[in-house]
Amino acid sequence: MNIEYKSQQGTFPLFFNKISNKKVAVVYDVNTKPYAVNIINQIKGVNAVVNEIEFFDKELIPDEKAMQKTIDGCVNADYLLAVGSGTLNDMAKAATTINKIECGVLATAASMDGYCSKGSALMRGGRKVTDEVHTPSDILIDLDIVKTAPKEMTAAGFGDIVGKFTCLTDWQMTNAVKGEEINQKAFAMMEKARTDCMDAFEELVEYKPNAIAKLMDALIMAGLAMAECGNSRPASGSEHHLSHFLEMDFVARGERVPLHGVKVAIGTLISIELYNYLLDNKVKFNGCEKVYELVKKLPKVQVVKDMLVKMSCPVRFSEIGVRKQTFLEMVAKAHTVRDRYTVLTLINELGLTEKIQPILLEKYF
Ligand SMILES: [Zn+2]
Repeated sequence: MNIEYKSQQGTFPLFFNKISNKKVAVVYDVNTKPYAVNIINQIKGVNAVVNEIEFFDKELIPDEKAMQKTIDGCVNADYLLAVGSGTLNDMAKAATTINKIECGVLATAASMDGYCSKGSALMRGGRKVTDEVHTPSDILIDLDIVKTAPKEMTAAGFGDIVGKFTCLTDWQMTNAVKGEEINQKAFAMMEKARTDCMDAFEELVEYKPNAIAKLMDALIMAGLAMAECGNSRPASGSEHHLSHFLEMDFVARGERVPLHGVKVAIGTLISIELYNYLLDNKVKFNGCEKVYELVKKLPKVQVVKDMLVKMSCPVRFSEIGVRKQTFLEMVAKAHTVRDRYTVLTLINELGLTEKIQPILLEKYF
């Protein structure tokens, strides 16, 4: 995979070298059109033939119709470039998996960790599905574009990285409690990228390009760590299960789904809270002493909360349209959305759910 930052000359030499004299389709929407127009001109400059797939939606839904348009738009192409972030990248990965051609993405926001993941979140028959797809061949990053993305998108990306505290702790906890093996290489990859991003926090708040790059690197690293591990364990734990539960609820109601990373961010606060409950109350279970030690290494919930607020990220689920009943159901049932042991499963096994619900409701609803 070619992960290429814009060169000082303002170009992506490896990418342009690859696509020169080829037939390249470019997919974009109304939000990303200005960036698409710019890179299309550059693509034409290396004698590539361009076919544009333009969506006019402000909030593109990756449903059957949108997918068909994307597939048709690149059916005669050698390569499909998405100009966007989550949805457009997911559609490009899925369409080119079907058409058996390469794809790439010009990233327009540091908003989520799915850039190089093997999953595409799509809508089919009105329901959300995750298709297994190939990864993009090229991820192109122009920090001048990424730093001007709407603030809530960068906040969401940061929230997704904050979530790596609890997902990695869930992994270690499961190792201590259930003996699940840890892929040390994947663990270290994700942990280092998260640490580098956190270390740049003060500059990230000011949207300094080097800090945005650290965030982008960490988001991309999540995909690489998952590939190394063969599953999403290095990047997704209890905080993501909380987010997935809410997502299904929003979709079932036909409501707009809040940004993935924002849900993950608030989910992370809840997961840290759950871990601290176990420590503070000295709850006894198999491997509890080892788990207490892990909890001590987690950042304090107030510290994480303050960081999220500084990034203009919501810290209560009611702020993003979650209903009280859904919140309570989420606490009780989110551990069932994936077959993966996390602190949510542990709390449920220990019969603590009902005790904890009012505490979480007060702090995070
Ligand atoms: Zn994520």
